[in-house]
Amino acid sequence: MPRTVHIVGAGLAGLSAALKLSARGERVIVHEATAFAGGRCRSYHDATLGMTIDNGNHLLLSGNHAALEFLRDIGAADRLIGPPAADFLFADVASGQRWTLSINDGRLPLWIFDPARRLPGTRALDYAPLARLLWARSGKSVGETISCKGLLYQRLVEPLLLAALNIDPPHGSAKLASAIIRETIAAGGRACRPLVAREGLGSTLIEPALETLQRRGTVVRLEHQLRGLRFGAERVEALDFGKETIVLTADDAVILAVPPYAAASLVRGLEVPNEFRAIVNAHFRIEPPAAAPPILGVLNGTVQWIFSFPGRVSITISAGDELVDSPREELAKTIWGDVSRVTGLPPALPPWQIVRERRATFAATPAQDARRPGAKTEWRNLMLAGDWTNIGLPATIEGAIRSGNRAAALVAR
Ligand SMILES: Cc1cc2nc3c(=O)[nH]c(=O)nc-3n(C[C@H](O)[C@H](O)[C@H](O)COP(=O)(O)OP(=O)(O)OC[C@H]3O[C@@H](n4cnc5c(N)ncnc54)[C@H](O)[C@@H]3O)c2cc1C
Repeated sequence: MPRTVHIVGAGLAGLSAALKLSARGERVIVHEATAFAGGRCRSYHDATLGMTIDNGNHLLLSGNHAALEFLRDIGAADRLIGPPAADFLFADVASGQRWTLSINDGRLPLWIFDPARRLPGTRALDYAPLARLLWARSGKSVGETISCKGLLYQRLVEPLLLAALNIDPPHGSAKLASAIIRETIAAGGRACRPLVAREGLGSTLIEPALETLQRRGTVVRLEHQLRGLRFGAERVEALDFGKETIVLTADDAVILAVPPYAAASLVRGLEVPNEFRAIVNAHFRIEPPAAAPPILGVLNGTVQWIFSFPGRVSITISAGDELVDSPREELAKTIWGDVSRVTGLPPALPPWQIVRERRATFAATPAQDARRPGAKTEWRNLMLAGDWTNIGLPATIEGAIRSGNRAAALVAR
């Protein structure tokens, strides 16, 4: 009888582990609590807008090598779109000023020395804090490492780290900020091209993954929530799904790819991140202006990023904890005010939807980062995966996929 690897959680961490193991011919069963795969990265049909939308706009970068490999494996690499170069367009709501940051392709940061490429109003010397962040010491916050003031901070460091760490940057972990700078700006423009799933997260990342798994004989059991694990001295012996218990053979393995609070309730004594930050997204059913860029950074407004899709304009607000309880209609109007000012679209509020993910990511502080466990546990057949495990990156698609790959490599024979 061949052994079975049970993967609990069908978010990107669980799916990437399942893809790696199924490609090696392993027998894999994925157990997912909800009625859909994708976890925090999913699409759904929204009745108010009458269209399929994503729970949140997700941005990938061309340097996210694990995510791109995942997409190639499921035959969906061509479903991401983005500009041919690392050009980031910004608009300042307060001043009306607009600019484009153009990071040159190679590792040598020529853009810093080129006034036409770097941020308006900055000098090459102003970019020194990026190097300080790059070599930041573990345990320090961003605010303890660089000055969080001035044009470079407001126009580059703050928008970049707010989006990547999902936390007010001064409180963010300098070590995680350093990982972001190393894998993006310091790696050159070739690693920084922004990429979005134009037809949605579901049809780009999730459905093709499920189809690939099905072709490889992997079973994905939806609405199959793990209620408990039975622990032996050195291995997990059984999985308790309430009405059903699966007894494991000595060879079977388990990858727990659930969020941190779910993992902590299933594994005794497991220390996990226990503070979270919200992300607010708003979607408007309206055709964006023909000249609208796919992604526009916004400064000095409530909105942080505007995404233009066919028939829809969507916005993202990271670290949006202060907005999770504000009245929905009021919030929609405030957001649309920013969008209308920046895009020139009419001020009348179009049909809208607001999606607020309260626990979008763990809070990327040094203290929370220190609570992230590795993949191995004290039980030899139990591995952990998820964007909150210690993968050296903040909670992102790339981190989730790398964590799934790492757990798969550890159980693989
Ligand atoms: C609004 C929003 C915007 C984001 N934007 C970006 C972005 O722009 N770029 C980026 O890179 N990242 C972004 N992220 C982060 C990214 O979505 C996550 O890092 C990634 O999806 C996490 O995947 P995961 O598999 O680790 O966890 P999850 O997606 O949380 O998956 C865990 C799965 O486990 C299941 N589960 C829980 N308990 C059980 C149980 N007991 N039994 C069985 N199953 C269980 C859950 O239902 C879920 O499906 C964003 C996140 C949000 C919420």
